[in-house]
Amino acid sequence: MNARIVVDRERCVGAGQCVLAAPEVFDSGDDGLVRVVGDTETETGTAVADGIRHAVRLCPARALSLREDG
Ligand code: SF4
Repeated sequence: MNARIVVDRERCVGAGQCVLAAPEVFDSGDDGLVRVVGDTETETGTAVADGIRHAVRLCPARALSLREDG
């Protein structure tokens, strides 16, 4: 099953929680806001997917979501 990371940069406040939770996927851009550095598609059930789910839960701005399909 695949999942797609959806980032709403309009909501991001640059708290950096996502970068700590899943550094393989998220980074801070020059503007301090979230930037996806990995693939936006991820295989669910992997350590990376778990990190992304953790980031989604931690984000104080609710700027992240994981859309699972399949
Ligand atoms: S945790 Fe949320 S608010 Fe913080 S940098 Fe990531 S997306 Fe932005």
